[in-house]
Amino acid sequence: MFKIDKPLPMPTEESAPFWEGTRRGELRAQRCGDCGHLRWPPAATCPICLSSRQEWVRLSGRGKVYSWIVVHKSQHPAFWGDPFNVAIVELDEGPRLHTNLVDVDPSVIRIGLPVEVVFDPQNDEITLPRFKPAA
Ligand SMILES: [Zn+2]
Repeated sequence: MFKIDKPLPMPTEESAPFWEGTRRGELRAQRCGDCGHLRWPPAATCPICLSSRQEWVRLSGRGKVYSWIVVHKSQHPAFWGDPFNVAIVELDEGPRLHTNLVDVDPSVIRIGLPVEVVFDPQNDEITLPRFKPAA
């Protein structure tokens, strides 16, 4: 049986600094250069004050599970097989990321579980940020 590769994110001009960060083991977000709002996802203008000024800042990589599910039947054939989780992690700094939880017994996953980022290289360009229970 043939194998289909899982689709990976495709960096854009605006998200490229995020992916550069994950390759280096840093979780980053774009911060408004005027009001300080953390823009997630990255955007050309701030949704709060409409400023186009921005900088990239390193985040703590710590947060908590905001929500999660276990996918048993994916519509994409690359994900057919074992069930897997999809989680929304609310970072300590505020942004919420869609991700997967790793190194965790599914029976202990709960809303509010403290987690920390781990970096999972997929190829030379893409390193996915995933999360494990905090030490
Ligand atoms: Zn702003």
